Amino acid sequence: MAFTHPVSRPFLTGRELEYVTDAVSGGWISSQGPYVRRFEEAFAAWNGVAHGVACSSGTAALTLALRALGIGPGDEVIVPEFTMIASAWAVTYTGATPVFVDCADDLNIDVTRVEEKITPRTRAIMPVHVYGRRCDMDAIMDIAHQYNLRVVEDSAEAHGVRPVGDIACFSLFANKIITAGEGGVCLTDDPRLAGQLAHLRAMAFTRDHSFLHKKLAYNHRMTAMQGAVALAQVERLDDILAARREIEARYDAALKDIPGITLMPPRDVLWMYDLRAERREELRAHLDARGVETRLFFKPMSRQPGYLDPVWPTLNAHRFSEDGLYLPTHTGLTADDQEYIAGAVREFYTSG
Ligand SMILES: *Cc1c(COP(=O)(O)O)cnc(C)c1O
Repeated sequence: MAFTHPVSRPFLTGRELEYVTDAVSGGWISSQGPYVRRFEEAFAAWNGVAHGVACSSGTAALTLALRALGIGPGDEVIVPEFTMIASAWAVTYTGATPVFVDCADDLNIDVTRVEEKITPRTRAIMPVHVYGRRCDMDAIMDIAHQYNLRVVEDSAEAHGVRPVGDIACFSLFANKIITAGEGGVCLTDDPRLAGQLAHLRAMAFTRDHSFLHKKLAYNHRMTAMQGAVALAQVERLDDILAARREIEARYDAALKDIPGITLMPPRDVLWMYDLRAERREELRAHLDARGVETRLFFKPMSRQPGYLDPVWPTLNAHRFSEDGLYLPTHTGLTADDQEYIAGAVREFYTSG
């Protein structure tokens, strides 16, 4: 079914088409050519980080980051319960084991519960800035220093949150704050890690292209067409974040007095406007009938068939997964759209 108000819609109002046309006209359709490099440099510069390494998805970025840090079989990585499955899968792809920590009331990893999950095998922590709320990175970096752990930030939903870990990984999927359609990028200040990321991304080819490959690597390259779109998006990142701040403020104002709705803490950057709703399934059906698409919160990793752990019904992450949803959130959303959407929510709770 096509929704009048889909949860997400790409916002391609800058130089995207011009750059893609230029890339294709120049014959730059693989990862060669100027666009991937220009995107990497522009995004790294925006974030005040030395190196950007673009790749084919956010999942690929996380996998490359863990591999670049030497994480593999026998190692453990701390991952939040409340996240998208790709955070955990990236750990599993390397052969390491994800160890899950429940979320706090802002949906992010509960930093007071991390230390109890650290073992002699723990090598890294992967904080996820869920829905654009920055994790308590001071606390996480303190724990990391104390236990000599690496930090890989899953920033897939948080373009605009400045990296502080060893490597920060962003997704450029179509519904993210900025997009390349599909794509991802790692940021790091460490030139050696940047070199490793680029090496692992491109099949661990050696400089002389001798077809002698010293390690198991990936084809996780980004194409120039994706780089062209991503570059045009970065050029507008400040405008995009500002527009999204206004969208957040308008939703806050329109929804705050509706009985049955619980607003969530403010976001550092707005990815999706999340809230908690009484009678959630009925509300969703009501909105659905009015052309408004919604999406459920994540389910705890311990509830996933691949990571099943009987503790899942006791988790904070489970409690949130039972009544949380997010409303349509994209950069082109207008005040009129939001009035209509919030009006439909209000109608549900106030019309008996
Ligand atoms: C979207 C997302 C990913 C995966 O990114 P893809 O580009 O879809 O592979 C990973 N982690 C989180 C938290 C995400 O939201």
